[in-house]
Amino acid sequence: MNTNKNWKINLLNFTNESFINLTKIFKEKKFISKQLNTYIYKKDITNFEKIDNIKKKFIENLKKISEIRKLKIIKEYIDLDNTIKLVIKTEKNIIETVAIPNSKNHFTICISSQNGCALNCAFCSTGKNGFYGNLKPYEMISQIIMAKEKIKNIFEKKKITNVVLMGMGEPLLNLDNVLAFISILSNENALDINKKKITISTSGITNKIKKISENNIPLALSLHSTDNTIRSKIMPINKKYPLKSILNECKKYLSNSNTLTIEYILIKDLNDSDKDINNLIDLTKKLKCKICLIPFNTIPNSPFKSPNLEKIIAFQNKLKNNKIIVNIRKRRGENINAACGQLSGKINNKYDKN
Ligand code: SF4
Repeated sequence: MNTNKNWKINLLNFTNESFINLTKIFKEKKFISKQLNTYIYKKDITNFEKIDNIKKKFIENLKKISEIRKLKIIKEYIDLDNTIKLVIKTEKNIIETVAIPNSKNHFTICISSQNGCALNCAFCSTGKNGFYGNLKPYEMISQIIMAKEKIKNIFEKKKITNVVLMGMGEPLLNLDNVLAFISILSNENALDINKKKITISTSGITNKIKKISENNIPLALSLHSTDNTIRSKIMPINKKYPLKSILNECKKYLSNSNTLTIEYILIKDLNDSDKDINNLIDLTKKLKCKICLIPFNTIPNSPFKSPNLEKIIAFQNKLKNNKIIVNIRKRRGENINAACGQLSGKINNKYDKN
């Protein structure tokens, strides 16, 4: 229990259910929960004084115990391809959020789910910079609100259509907070993002996939190798949850009418051989999923390189020839270290605008 007299509940942590419970506690009508959601998420109000058509007495009481407080941006970068990277101060550390233009008027937001990451994957900057704790729902919601504001200020009419939990951290190791965040994100009275357009990416935390399946949330599995020895080398978590256990869980996940994507970072001379392609074809046919190939993005002090374009396209074509749906992820925000695997939670003066 927090004993600080000035401590207040942050309403940005509240799911629809929490708002309904709040109105019950105050003996108010249930529809007020909907109004509060609308004020906070549709009208972007953070100041209780601006809430004008809910009973004044209730708002005054609410103000005594609660606040609407988002995080703060400490740095922002915009790449030539209009990808935006926000560097954000959290309660415990610094995180990064990326807004990626995915068509003329739409953006995908890549959010962080933890302060850093404890899993230390060899191809990822986040893993090299330590773990500082989980993010609360309001810290994830803040990333969306701030990205939305930034996009509106810079591009006016552009809209957020997709959200991917592929930034810093392993979402399945912060699952309760992630599910609360998704509940707020997909609530039609709050941020109203279609659940089918929200994707959770996991390194394969087997015992948590069932919960994602029950909630029918699209899943992306960071596979990166079909060989346990190589996978354990680049993803130490594979020693705890080896391929067989992950793939069994993915089969169960798919049997519940869910959508699975396999992400495969292509690393030169490590996982790009003909044998790797054939193993990936076998595995994909068993799972009935699509594949996203990600050419390795450069990170500091890494021995890895991406294969050349010719080899990447040949890899893709062999999969296509086997009737597998496969795309190559475009490099976005690479000049501002915002591409896949490059988020570090550090301010890099090399990219500063000032
Ligand atoms: S790839 Fe994901 S799970 Fe691995 S260290 Fe980076 S953030 Fe963590």
